[in-house]
Amino acid sequence: VTVRVEHLEANVDRVLVAVAPPTPNGDLHLGHLSGPYLATDVYSRYLRSQGIQTYFVTGSDDHQSYVPMKGLKQGRTALEVLEHYGQSIPKTLENARIQVDHFLRPYHTPAYQTFVQGFFKRLVDKGALESRTGPALFCESCNLYLYEAHVGGSCPSCGEGANGNGCEKCGFVNDCIDLKDSKCNHCQKTPITKTYTRFYFPLNQHANTLKDYFSQVSMNGHLHALTKNMLRDGYPDISVSHVADWGIPVGLPGYEGQVIYEWLEMAAGYLYLAQTLFGSWESFFKDPRSMFVLGYGFDNAFFYTSFIPALFHAYDPEIRSPRAFLSNEFYQLENLKFSTSRNHAVWGDDFLKEVPADDMRYYLSYSRPETEQTNFDRKEFQATVDRELKTNWKGWQDRLKAKLAELRPSDAKAPAARVKFEARMDELKSAVEQCYRAETFSLRSATRLLNQMVFEADQYAKTWDFLKGQPEWADYVAGERFALCALAEAAAPVMPDFSKRTLAELK
Ligand SMILES: [Zn+2]
Ligand SMILES: [Zn+2]
Repeated sequence: VTVRVEHLEANVDRVLVAVAPPTPNGDLHLGHLSGPYLATDVYSRYLRSQGIQTYFVTGSDDHQSYVPMKGLKQGRTALEVLEHYGQSIPKTLENARIQVDHFLRPYHTPAYQTFVQGFFKRLVDKGALESRTGPALFCESCNLYLYEAHVGGSCPSCGEGANGNGCEKCGFVNDCIDLKDSKCNHCQKTPITKTYTRFYFPLNQHANTLKDYFSQVSMNGHLHALTKNMLRDGYPDISVSHVADWGIPVGLPGYEGQVIYEWLEMAAGYLYLAQTLFGSWESFFKDPRSMFVLGYGFDNAFFYTSFIPALFHAYDPEIRSPRAFLSNEFYQLENLKFSTSRNHAVWGDDFLKEVPADDMRYYLSYSRPETEQTNFDRKEFQATVDRELKTNWKGWQDRLKAKLAELRPSDAKAPAARVKFEARMDELKSAVEQCYRAETFSLRSATRLLNQMVFEADQYAKTWDFLKGQPEWADYVAGERFALCALAEAAAPVMPDFSKRTLAELK
């Protein structure tokens, strides 16, 4: 029995692809690029090649507490940190050929801030957010309420070291006061508990909505397991306003000095982006022919799988949450986690000064942390690029170019072997394209299939080169030219420069 499976992209007119906004507290390293950024760029390029209207968006995550934290460490203001990395991040993306259509800069966009405050107020008016007096951590020596970047301790869920509000290791959230052995990240002293009145989002009230949602959204096994565990254990209430001087003010009487939680701001941000791009956010987010797809690393999974879709539902049940997630695990450097704060990183900008963007994109795809943590190693990078791209890909291409310089292959006479070979190349090309679709997304598989195309083309070439010097040789070489064209088209989303150059040469 043949079952025809319709893929997600088959029935949509336009897609909004959003990738987790980088925090402007450091430049982008290969760990960042290998994960969500390259994936969403490849996906967007694939969609465009299929004639689907595609909008690829991100921005800088200006209001994260990690921005002022970095400033304190460097003796700069939060704004200086933001201005510095807010400039360098888009440049690195551009150099990596990660082509976003719209880069939102929240700090510099007053209309966005007003929109976020309106989003928050409507949630309050609808009763979706509850005002409650609750405990918070306070550092007496720093005279500071602690959350997110400001506080560290042991994760209440998995026991690993975590910062306030979220654990990178297990993906669960915390409320700071439940961190074990919490310490102020500025002075390392143990904070005290104080109470104040702020807003909470009782997330567990949306558990049934989320359960339905999870059964429809396309996500990988790791996210599936995480969402199952979260439903089983029940969701905590999430504090969504904090006493802080960095962020968008709540703007409601009685809550002076409080800012809106960055992750709630993010939910509003997607509606704002749609408003900017399409004139009204409803025209995109309520349209069944529109699709929203999100790319992010596993450490942010709680927010993207549960928190934001639940906020959307609370805000307006007609909002269509993301239909697919493109997520990744951690990429490691010499078997240790990439770390901006410890400077254990290969910076995208430095790397791209030495290495063509295509080589980097190819290797990051080849070694992408899709189902497990993978490792970047400089020697491995060089060995893989030399073996695959230089010896195999370029070797075959150069031999073909030499043949094409002396022969005039015609498409008129197609020997049976060539017809079969070209059909096989088409088959492999379709297999590569399947790796670019959201439900079966895998850049590791895509690069291996591209290598297979080169391998089979080279085998075909070697067999029919025995006809060298005879008139029908050219009829076989035409098959190689077909293969190179198929390879250039199939590789385009991963290696746009190679593709463009090769297709231009073949014309
Ligand atoms: Zn944890
Ligand atoms: Zn302190």
